[in-house]
Amino acid sequence: MKTDVLVVGAGPVGLTLAVDLGRRGVRCTLIEKKPAPEFLPKMERCNARTLEIFRRMGLAGQIRAAGLDRHVPMDVYIVLAMNEPPLLRLPYPSVAEAEAEIARCRDGSMPREPYQLISQYTLEPLLKSVAERLPAVSVRYGHEFLCLSQHADMVSATVRDPEGRSIEIEAQYLVGCDGGASPVRKTLGIELRGDGNLLRFHQALLHAPDLFERIPIGDGPGRGRHYHIADAQSTFLIMQDSTKHWTLHAVVERPEEMAAQFERTIGIPVPYTLLYVGEWKQNLLLADHYGAGRVFLAGDSVHLVIPTGGLGMNTGVGDAIDLSWKLHATLEGWGGPNLLGSYEIERRQVGDRNVGASRYAALGRRKWRSQYRPDIRDATPEGQATRDNLARVASVEQRKTNEMIGAELGYRYVGSPVIWEEPGGPEHLFREYIPTTWPGARLPHVWLREGQSVHDVIGEGYTLLRLGGSKSDTRGLERAMQAHHAPFTTLTIDEDAARDVYGYDLILVRPDLHVVWRGNTEPSDPGQVAAVATGH
Ligand SMILES: Cc1cc2nc3c(=O)[nH]c(=O)nc-3n(C[C@H](O)[C@H](O)[C@H](O)COP(=O)(O)OP(=O)(O)OC[C@H]3O[C@@H](n4cnc5c(N)ncnc54)[C@H](O)[C@@H]3O)c2cc1C
Repeated sequence: MKTDVLVVGAGPVGLTLAVDLGRRGVRCTLIEKKPAPEFLPKMERCNARTLEIFRRMGLAGQIRAAGLDRHVPMDVYIVLAMNEPPLLRLPYPSVAEAEAEIARCRDGSMPREPYQLISQYTLEPLLKSVAERLPAVSVRYGHEFLCLSQHADMVSATVRDPEGRSIEIEAQYLVGCDGGASPVRKTLGIELRGDGNLLRFHQALLHAPDLFERIPIGDGPGRGRHYHIADAQSTFLIMQDSTKHWTLHAVVERPEEMAAQFERTIGIPVPYTLLYVGEWKQNLLLADHYGAGRVFLAGDSVHLVIPTGGLGMNTGVGDAIDLSWKLHATLEGWGGPNLLGSYEIERRQVGDRNVGASRYAALGRRKWRSQYRPDIRDATPEGQATRDNLARVASVEQRKTNEMIGAELGYRYVGSPVIWEEPGGPEHLFREYIPTTWPGARLPHVWLREGQSVHDVIGEGYTLLRLGGSKSDTRGLERAMQAHHAPFTTLTIDEDAARDVYGYDLILVRPDLHVVWRGNTEPSDPGQVAAVATGH
């Protein structure tokens, strides 16, 4: 069997890659060893950048419809138990509130789309059904990748099919999106480095249909998302997208302890069913390489972070989207050799920074948890002092987990062979996002007419933005881009808002909305800019 791209692993990253390749018309096969998506808890928060990406893929509406109701806020609480007044409440907007804030924002500092809470067990079947409707994509569950061999012009994978037979799949390129244990990465002999197995949690998935309406704290019943329990077991409870399912995480010895831990956490009697108990480990690991030859790696196969900060799947979706258009360009023939070569350079640095951001958030979490003392529940002055102190430290440290807008939107590719580098560049900040068009950065979202963003009017190929009534002659750059047969458009935007935020008259943006080049007049050597942009 032959295909252009073989994607191994139908987690959220492999599914996103397959859908994006498929909608670009790239023939691809997605194999997954599980017979079907599983109803098991993992991620639940797609961040703002991921929603911007899903918007460009035409999926944001479906994902919002399947996810958490847009009016439920994302407040985070630190509590002794959920039936007691909170020690700390950190309010975060609902999607509806965040959309209203974004609608008012005129300085480019906010994303086009806010986050969306959607559980991984909802997202995966949704993306699977989208992939299955794309004529270019063949989706095969129950197919396990076993090994591969690389040749000059193709890669061949041995796969076990649902009947247990070994079949060969030949592809131009193979992408391992096969998770932390990645057999594809191991086949390539690529190591993960960093800190593994830092802390081991038990996780329970519970169906507690009444709990959301009955939580006695907050601005109304159930109006929160994360409930961290100030205890010795680092317990936390996370609301899932239906508001009827919850995941409980705790450092306990045995899975049988999770039911009692849940009852202690909620503190009120509600009917519930324990659906699953498993274990997961905290890791901060990054792969030495993001592939070799015709094989690439994306998602958890190359970076494992602590879920604090929600940078696991979200970083992987960024990998998928960086790789997808580069594979398409290379297969179409207009992408030069540096395009695929730039994948590791661009995405490994983001993986590295996000492992760092996750460490920073996790250390914050650990710091406030270390203020726990066994007297925390005592009705004594000492008990009160312990509670006050923990809340004071947490009001600084817990924010590190929940306020990561810089890591989400502000990543900029440095040292990439397909970006026209300007020396220097703004600092990479985790907590703060300062809009910039520095080459390598994501083009900030700026409103044009009511309800329409610059992001929305940029097409699938390269775009040269002409801003602020620029009269520059850009025909040289246009000709140079066309000479590479790359999809290319010139877009004139006269509204001042965009010129004010972007700071330049001319900006060359690539298909993933990252800036390649900027200037106020045409570059002196447009041929060289076009060659860099297209990877030649
Ligand atoms: C408790 C918890 C909460 C989290 N919360 C968040 C969050 O809010 N936001 C966030 O961004 N991230 C979060 N994460 C991390 C997130 O779940 C992962 O980063 C994400 O699942 C990675 O996606 P992936 O597609 O790379 O890998 P996976 O989801 O691991 O998918 C890999 C797929 O490959 C398949 N596979 C493996 N081997 C083979 C083989 N030999 N052949 C074929 N298929 C194979 C597997 O069956 C699996 O389906 C959380 C993680 C945990 C544990």
